[in-house]
Amino acid sequence: MSPMIRHIVQRGETLFLIAKKYGLTVNVLLAANPDIKNPSLIIPGQAIHVPSLRKTIVVPQENYDYNKMMSDLDALSTVYPFIKVSTIGKSVSGRSIPAVQIGKGIKKVHYNGSFHANEWITTLLLMKFLEVYAKAYRDGKYIGHFNVKNLFERTSLWIVPMVNPDGVELVQNGIQPTDPLYDTVMRINRGLRDFRGWKANLRGVDLNDQFPARWEVEVARRSGLAPAPRDYPGPSPLSEPESRAMANFTRSHNFRLVIAFHTQGQEIYWGYRGLEPDESIRIVQRFVEVSGYKSIRYVESDAGYKDWFIQEWRRPGFTVECGRGTNPLPVKQFWDIWGKTIGIFLVGLDV
Ligand SMILES: [Zn+2]
Repeated sequence: MSPMIRHIVQRGETLFLIAKKYGLTVNVLLAANPDIKNPSLIIPGQAIHVPSLRKTIVVPQENYDYNKMMSDLDALSTVYPFIKVSTIGKSVSGRSIPAVQIGKGIKKVHYNGSFHANEWITTLLLMKFLEVYAKAYRDGKYIGHFNVKNLFERTSLWIVPMVNPDGVELVQNGIQPTDPLYDTVMRINRGLRDFRGWKANLRGVDLNDQFPARWEVEVARRSGLAPAPRDYPGPSPLSEPESRAMANFTRSHNFRLVIAFHTQGQEIYWGYRGLEPDESIRIVQRFVEVSGYKSIRYVESDAGYKDWFIQEWRRPGFTVECGRGTNPLPVKQFWDIWGKTIGIFLVGLDV
């Protein structure tokens, strides 16, 4: 395997920006490209050799935020050009919500994370899986007993790693008084600057209570119907740009299976009012075998993403609750959760 990556200079890029993107210095780039005589004279379309000093791109860390995810997606799609990044829509604050596609099979599978703001460790899990899977494919490796080349050729995986980018930012970095939504958010949070309990989007709507699957029943289940850090289903189904983007994205693909990753509880929810297909039980049994998580068929809940998917398509849809403890889970749980979910990621592509 070559220790060099070929980077094609894009419009507006300088050597400094390219070095920064790969976590290198300009001097390291110059040493790898002796043909560059003048560092300020590089042109779009020119190929630059980039030494791949970094072993990994996605590094588990506290406050893995939106910008970190975006720059990792950028780096991953450069190192692994078969990864395609697109956008499914915008959040309340105008952040693009990225979707990533990997694999070339006709069978389409979808995974998502961070529907809930303080469950952002699920973004890190999905990003890490994307990297590990891409690397194994490029290097012709197996992951455990899974033949990655075979999975890659049979399946197209579509990942939305951060459904609720504004919420994740709020939990991790708070909100500035200059933000147009500052007053709204502070009112919803009753003046508190601690957002660790926040699950909703910036308008105080729980994005996983927004889907047209007995939404009215979910509304009737709630006592206080006002914007809140969690559990408010919104004024109408799909009233929020993030849940609407997810609904449109899902409708525009013919997914064979979807998994929404949440925390916490080490449980896998797989049913919705008897509408789930017969094969769901067989699939969830495989998830249980590889993760040690517990399978649960029904809960007193409606209007969730997986509920809606099962209702509309009568295909296997799952909510996987990772980890234990109070959200946001500390990043020190990452590798433990990874060890339990890697099998789920792979089985989801295999079935
Ligand atoms: Zn959740």
